[in-house]
Amino acid sequence: MTEPTLDDYKTLLAAAEAVKERAYAPYSRFRVGAAVLAKSGVSYSGCNVENVSFGLTLCAERVALASAVAAGEREFLAVAIATDKDEPVSPCGACRQVLAEFGGDMVVVLPGKNGPTLRPLDSLLPSGFGPADLPPPGGAPPPKE
Ligand SMILES: [Zn+2]
Repeated sequence: MTEPTLDDYKTLLAAAEAVKERAYAPYSRFRVGAAVLAKSGVSYSGCNVENVSFGLTLCAERVALASAVAAGEREFLAVAIATDKDEPVSPCGACRQVLAEFGGDMVVVLPGKNGPTLRPLDSLLPSGFGPADLPPPGGAPPPKE
């Protein structure tokens, strides 16, 4: 699959809306559904999964991405995110970083009053941390003080 069409984005957003119904959010009552579109043309969805130990909560975006990676996907075109709010909700910082691991050119698809709103992931994570920030593999260890 190359460039998704507006219908592809709408379909992805519908998948995010559908999986939102399965969210496990007894604490925040903030249900989120996400769907990622792989370059293979296959989409994978996930919902948020909260935990009484709040720090263990999984965001929908990362659940969807992990499902896709577990299926063997490594390249992605888009991620759609749906919540119960009327206004679009962007992914949290942690999810932006995890999504960027698989390409900052991924399109973030959010619901809008006049159809899906499309934003490049790079615009949501400017100056993000990436592989180029690490020393090269096999490089010298950091100097001791
Ligand atoms: Zn998140």
